[in-house]
Amino acid sequence: MIGFDLCWIGRALVFLLLIPRILGWGKEGHYAICKIAEGYLTEDTVTAVKALIPDHAEGDLAAVCSWPDDVRFHYRWSSPLHYVDTPDFRCNYTYCRDCHDSAEQKDRCVTGAIYNYTMQLMSGYNSNSEIKYNLTEALMFLSHFVGDVHQPLHAGFLGDEGGNTITVRWYRRKTNLHHVWDTMIIDSALKTFYNKDLATMIQAIQSNITNGWFSGISSWANCASDHTVCPDPYASESIDLACKFAYRNATPGSTLGDDYFFSRLPVVETRLAQSGVRLAATLNRIFASHASIAQE
Ligand SMILES: [Zn+2]
Repeated sequence: MIGFDLCWIGRALVFLLLIPRILGWGKEGHYAICKIAEGYLTEDTVTAVKALIPDHAEGDLAAVCSWPDDVRFHYRWSSPLHYVDTPDFRCNYTYCRDCHDSAEQKDRCVTGAIYNYTMQLMSGYNSNSEIKYNLTEALMFLSHFVGDVHQPLHAGFLGDEGGNTITVRWYRRKTNLHHVWDTMIIDSALKTFYNKDLATMIQAIQSNITNGWFSGISSWANCASDHTVCPDPYASESIDLACKFAYRNATPGSTLGDDYFFSRLPVVETRLAQSGVRLAATLNRIFASHASIAQE
């Protein structure tokens, strides 16, 4: 029996090692982002979203915001769409230079995917032509990727795969820097401040938004030049935050503890808040244009 168990564990480890890149904010992060977004949706958007999401979500967008991570192995093509790699140590992002996959295919990165799924939803809702796309999947991908592009290490350096190859300890636990930002900071915050209750954490972020606790909040929802969606500045912010907060004092082999946790948690909570507000604003723009066309 022991031999069997060890063999199974060995195989499980091999499987884990073969997972190419980590997924993006963990389930809690994506759930929080979409829950925050739900608070800012217009009536038209709520109606459109409810019509599009699968029945098992029971009308709750947040219930399906991790779906792209669940299908990542089944939809292999979608894997590079969760992030964008930027050149090592440059701390900036440009679409033309950076948005491609490892085979140099253009537009195959998280910002390209956000443009693409916005276009799909717009075309589905704003033209009389036949719908060419799966709009349910488009909505679930868009809601997920607006979250991912706000995770600073989803616009991280190519050489370390956005922190995936930087092995660190999170307190006593061995992990990698990317995973710290996807999951561990949020998990530790839940345990330390929110009684392990995600709803309480979400409420705290929501009241910080309402009370104007975050700086620059009045401009979060805006896109320059009245564009429907604007993921490029979000990716630029992410690599800037990655350089200032994620990579700083997190060299390979380092142990990250209280100093790192307490100084980075406000960054994580700000990014969750921003992505929720911006996802709502984007969906409102997509589905409001449908309403205005319908009224003509
Ligand atoms: Zn993701």
